[in-house]
Amino acid sequence: MKKVLALLVALMMVGVMGTATAADKLVVGTNAEFAPFEYIGDDGKIAGFDIELIDAIMKLVGVEYEVISIEFDALLPALASGQINLSISGMTINEERAQNVLFSEPYFNASQKLMVVEGSAITCAADLKEGMKIGVQMGTTGDLYATDNLPAEVLRYNKILDAILDMKNGRLDAVMTDAAPSDYYAKAAGGLTVLPEELSEEKYGIAVKLDNTELIEKINAALAQLVEDGTYETIHAKYFTPAEE
Ligand code: GLN
Repeated sequence: MKKVLALLVALMMVGVMGTATAADKLVVGTNAEFAPFEYIGDDGKIAGFDIELIDAIMKLVGVEYEVISIEFDALLPALASGQINLSISGMTINEERAQNVLFSEPYFNASQKLMVVEGSAITCAADLKEGMKIGVQMGTTGDLYATDNLPAEVLRYNKILDAILDMKNGRLDAVMTDAAPSDYYAKAAGGLTVLPEELSEEKYGIAVKLDNTELIEKINAALAQLVEDGTYETIHAKYFTPAEE
């Protein structure tokens, strides 16, 4: 009988420890199609500014985590359903999203920009007329901006890179996305120009489930510490020249 009890206790402990470890490991969701913030590196691993920032944050918070990549417009539903515990994905803080998730303090300033093929007659947003086509990433603030403000037809892609390739193949007149990814992909794809006009003022935030104030407070405290101790600046300098933010 004692042996059976001991075995039972041992099994229960394994059970308890098993759950504890699983529960302690947070799942971070991103969409690794948004360089230099998040992308698949040469080694096949998810890399980028956001990924290094969240690593530094999680080390300070003191929890283990794993990063998974899902589609951008699946991030908010995944937070709500608990499939992921937090998301970092160059995500702009806006009112509509803030009704469904809790955002951290802003960690990056951004704006929408237009990208065209070199030599295009389009030099600013006002040149985009009815009958023209603009590519965006589905569910992003670029999608919202183009849909609300531009007379051109909006074509929605899962990956901004696919929109850029379609533009290079002559199927689109312009592509709209955030400034830093515009610069990154324009350079990588070649033959493209990023127009200087900044069409919006946006700030990125890390998001958690609406009721997870405990986690967001820890993330905010860690973020403040990383800015204070220079770690934020060190990570920033790896991905951006000082002129960009
Ligand atoms: N900042 C934009 C948004 O929040 C784009 C983000 C992205 O494509 N990863 O919608």
